[in-house]
Amino acid sequence: MHTKTLAELSSGLRQREYSSVELTQYFLDRIAKYDNKLNSFITVTNDTALAEAKAADKRLATGEADILTGIPLAHKDLFCTHGVRTSCGSKMLDNFIAPYDATVVAKCKAAGMVMLGKTNMDEFAMGSSNETSFYGPVKNPWDMNTVPGGSSGGSVAAVAANLVPIATGTDTGGSIRQPSALCGVTGLKPTYGAVSRYGMIAFASSLDQGGPITHNAEDAALLLNVISGYDKRDSTSIQQELPDYTADLNNNIKGLKIGLIKEHFGEGLDAGVNEVLNNSIKELEQSGAVFQEISLPHSHLSVPIYYIIALGECSSNLSRYDGVRFGHRCDDPQDLLDMYKRTRAEGFGAEVKRRIMLGTYVLSAGYYDAYYLKAQQIRRLISEDFKAAFKQVDVILGPTAPTTAFEIGAKMNDPITMYLSDIYTIACNLAGLPAMSIPAGFSDNMPVGLHLVGNYLKEAQILNVAHQYQQLTDWHKQKPVDFS
Ligand code: GLN
Repeated sequence: MHTKTLAELSSGLRQREYSSVELTQYFLDRIAKYDNKLNSFITVTNDTALAEAKAADKRLATGEADILTGIPLAHKDLFCTHGVRTSCGSKMLDNFIAPYDATVVAKCKAAGMVMLGKTNMDEFAMGSSNETSFYGPVKNPWDMNTVPGGSSGGSVAAVAANLVPIATGTDTGGSIRQPSALCGVTGLKPTYGAVSRYGMIAFASSLDQGGPITHNAEDAALLLNVISGYDKRDSTSIQQELPDYTADLNNNIKGLKIGLIKEHFGEGLDAGVNEVLNNSIKELEQSGAVFQEISLPHSHLSVPIYYIIALGECSSNLSRYDGVRFGHRCDDPQDLLDMYKRTRAEGFGAEVKRRIMLGTYVLSAGYYDAYYLKAQQIRRLISEDFKAAFKQVDVILGPTAPTTAFEIGAKMNDPITMYLSDIYTIACNLAGLPAMSIPAGFSDNMPVGLHLVGNYLKEAQILNVAHQYQQLTDWHKQKPVDFS
């Protein structure tokens, strides 16, 4: 049951092979059995899940069901969920029960999907390994001594271990794609503005974007159909009709021009990852895709630029956690300033504090022009690089992450090395482009991800390439044996 695709699960529900209540219970049982090892969930919502499943069964019985009605899913714990704790992986919000649903959550509910719980994540989505969570690290189901990647590590590990068929994540610099690569699942970051950020707790507002984490491209298209679309409550939401993302999955990719980023195949790329990638290029060539080298001349600046812009924005976004209206408040404050200081000192972890301090520095009056403004100018150059590349090719391909999953603890005391985990993914956030990671093989028995980048609003095209690749290969079907 747990290896079925969404289309199969949906047809099973319609044929009455099982009810949504049975399906929900089945996955809840798997979470109960396995998650003590993985730590992929922060909150499991057993009771509300079964109530939602019952309601879904009613809809299925009366024929008012949508395609994903009755299907279980999990949300990353930074999507606000009405009446359910929304912690963002932080002590600061450990006691926060959201008073409303994020748009993504509301849309999934309206489609009749069943939420099994909220998944673990790096604190405020800051990290590449899921080790900064207040709730402890998540393990990679392929090797429990290694990290699942981050920050959507809980969602990704839960899908990889088949504890839930699909999950949501968010991606500010790579947090959907990098963990998807490290755990061998499919993860898509949509075009900035395609999925509403309303009710998605902000890290860096000009970069954050929610998206699907799934077993394959078809499932990603189905979930994206549900969660995308204009939302007047998000001022950066794209105000136009979005396509049916499943429509192009079966298009022939003969003659499709795929660009290989010259700068991403050099120094820093692990030899095993490179080998997997070369094999997948050959596999795609068999489908008729044509490869050509392209250059993104400013790509080496993506990581430093990101760590100026994202940190500036986070220092501003996280100023709202002051102990006044919600979240953690220190005991017995002497006065207002004492409350602010101790609340924030106690509520935030080390990485979040580091980022708030750096972000405050780059935005400060004396340094704004030298850092933040300069970074915004280079951000434009990075977008221009992509614009030029998309004049030559339809889709861009490269590695998602420079290495496979690393050992827990290996990079925690070396933030710069940790930050380089997203070296290939970050530029897409800076430019706002859609991109996805799909399983492409293994290096030393650990999954390797293939990164596909599309032009603005061309999610359907990268989904098409991913789906065609998944027709030819079965990397996406390989699952960690300890969770079979
Ligand atoms: N790893 C990157 C960071 O730490 C990206 C995080 C994300 O995409 N949320 O900022």
